[in-house]
Amino acid sequence: MKFALAGNPNSGKTTLFNNLTGSTAHVGNWPGVTVDKKEGVYKRGTDKIGIIDLPGIYSLSPYSPEEIIARNYILNDTPDDAPDLIINIVDATNLERNLYLTTQLLETGIPMVIALNMMDVVEKNGDTIDVKALEAAIGIPVIPICALKKNGIKELIDKSVAAVKAGKMPTTILKESKISDVYCEVLDEVKKRNTKHEVFVAVKLIEGDDLIKRAYTDLVPTITAILEKNPQPDHDNDYESLVADMRYQYISSNLSIHQTKATKNTNVTRTEKADKVLTHKIWGIPIFIVIMFAVFHIIFSGDFLYLSIYGLEPIEAPGVYLQTLVGELSGMGIEAIAGALENQAVWVQSLVVDGLLGGIDAVLSFMPQMLLLFLFLSIMEETGYMARVAFILDRAFRNFGLSGRALLPLLMCFGCGVPGIMATKGLENEKERKISIILAPFFSCGAKMPIWAVFAATLFLERGGEFVVFGMYFLGIATAILVTIILRKTIYKGSVPHFIMELPNYHRPQVRSTLRHLWDKVIHYIKRVTLVIAGAVVIIWLLSSFSFTFTFVEDIGDSMMGIISKGLTWLFIPLGFAMGDQGWMFVVAVFTGLIAKEMVVATLGVFSGMTADEILEGGELAGTGIAALLSALSIPAAIAFMAFNLLSVPCLAAVGAASGELRNKKSLWGAIGIWLLTAYVISFVLYWAGTYWWIGMTLGIIAAVIITLYILNYKGIIKLSKIFGKTPDKKTLQL
Ligand code: GDP
Ligand code: MG
Repeated sequence: MKFALAGNPNSGKTTLFNNLTGSTAHVGNWPGVTVDKKEGVYKRGTDKIGIIDLPGIYSLSPYSPEEIIARNYILNDTPDDAPDLIINIVDATNLERNLYLTTQLLETGIPMVIALNMMDVVEKNGDTIDVKALEAAIGIPVIPICALKKNGIKELIDKSVAAVKAGKMPTTILKESKISDVYCEVLDEVKKRNTKHEVFVAVKLIEGDDLIKRAYTDLVPTITAILEKNPQPDHDNDYESLVADMRYQYISSNLSIHQTKATKNTNVTRTEKADKVLTHKIWGIPIFIVIMFAVFHIIFSGDFLYLSIYGLEPIEAPGVYLQTLVGELSGMGIEAIAGALENQAVWVQSLVVDGLLGGIDAVLSFMPQMLLLFLFLSIMEETGYMARVAFILDRAFRNFGLSGRALLPLLMCFGCGVPGIMATKGLENEKERKISIILAPFFSCGAKMPIWAVFAATLFLERGGEFVVFGMYFLGIATAILVTIILRKTIYKGSVPHFIMELPNYHRPQVRSTLRHLWDKVIHYIKRVTLVIAGAVVIIWLLSSFSFTFTFVEDIGDSMMGIISKGLTWLFIPLGFAMGDQGWMFVVAVFTGLIAKEMVVATLGVFSGMTADEILEGGELAGTGIAALLSALSIPAAIAFMAFNLLSVPCLAAVGAASGELRNKKSLWGAIGIWLLTAYVISFVLYWAGTYWWIGMTLGIIAAVIITLYILNYKGIIKLSKIFGKTPDKKTLQL
């Protein structure tokens, strides 16, 4: 038997899943996407029940990868893999929104029970829910549970098993609605096709669901005719919004009447109180910046308590401490292996020590910092703060042409750009969707973090490394704003859609699920580094150890890689980092970064292993390997190098995702062009502004003047049109 857990995000699915499956759970990916697929087993006596944790969704419309995954799984007909029952988790503190999904799940006709979760909070708030009455109104078993305290779990499973035996007919609220005639007519048409899930298909055809329409193209003309015969002037003939309205109406008049809210809801007032501060009109953004800075400070600062200000020995931040520790451990490992290989041929030593170990070690040693970053991101996510960030940033970005809805997928890109880009599916406004795909790489992902970390740990260690890392994230956001303004003024003109969002109540993050999540990340990261990165590292080693005549070369500059990339180096000379003897190595790193961003550091790691002696000549420089290699760069050149990697074309996987979402070749090449151009221009400006103070100052003054004029114009104090000639506004155009 197989049970699928379905429900809104944050309804407690994962908590319940972990309770039910314990140690049997394992995580994979849904085919073709990076959304987690969690599966486990619940043991009931001698029976084994498979449990699937579906991604969190608000509806069964095909607007996000999560929704598509969940519904494809629920409706799949493969005998081995189809769920026998849906456990629909409903957050009892948020009944109306959660039951919206329930009304859609009921249309599939798959046996179902409702796990009414968070009952502890309901009780604490002094609210009550008449479970028996609710059950009678919905027509399926409703079991109150508290996933956190494991209350009600046994009853949930018992009733679920009984529900599978009892079977279930599909039901829809449309049947007894004011458009029941339309529904019956459409259903009759669908029934002629003899397909599965007739009720679901009929409802989705009425809603105008794209995927279903594509699957039943021959039915579409008939259905369109039926719908046109019954115009809905109240809803501009938009059946999708009509059905959504009817669902909510049905819920509020038939279902949610069975709950009584206490007059004073402590949890809500606490949330409201916190929101007064955290989403404050003026303070919201500064608070967000302070929180982000604190995070970077904990992860990257070499002088955690600012002790050096008082002339004391600085203490490293926890992130730096852990990184040093892992670095030392792996250094000892590498030395041991190098020692064991002492009698082997030179090329074997070089391949294993410089190539493989050098590259992998360079990336892996930043894992502690990467994990800390993910830990903080997932705490922000779980507490409900991330949703507020979209809300706060909406106010800032709206003026520049992007709504908070488009920022939600972009915030995901701080973790990984691939799911972020895929989540842009949820944006209904086509122009906004394309803009946010273009902006995705600017939101620095986890794989780029080792690049910032390696610079923070070497070149900038005593110079405020955490400011540099923070600066990179900030540069990404600032660039995103700039590019949005330009796109909105040129190819993607149009108005900014409204943004309405229900903010979830604040939750305390749960230690166990967070740790589990982190553990999954560790495994995923190690796999990725050892399989993908190691393979690529070996190729780089080969290309940079042998000449075109396949002889092992002493001087890396004579290798294939050396000769080819020296030919391309001139392109990057204006950006500063390609100058000097080692310059071409940074160019190679930029190119390998197009495969995966971890490759940037891995590549530098390989090169630094091969050239350490050469650079260290004279023994002047502190540290070995990478530190020495990076110190070949001037500070502005280092910043230009980081900026180029941040803003240019993202990794292959992200380009693939963007290609899928942009849907045509022209848009994709356009996006790639924009990425390259942005990266080049910004790095160019940063390098020259940093190298010559008077260039920096001139640019700074110009920027300040533009921003001041813009603000004054925005506030209506001066009119830019008066200074720069009259631009016709909309009204004059209409006349
Ligand atoms: P998912 O997004 O549906 O997987 O939800 P999670 O399982 O991650 O839970 C979201 C948050 O709700 C977490 O912080 C949980 O600790 C919390 N939570 C889950 N179940 C309960 C419950 O029964 N009572 C309370 N008070 N909190 C819960
Ligand atoms: Mg979850």
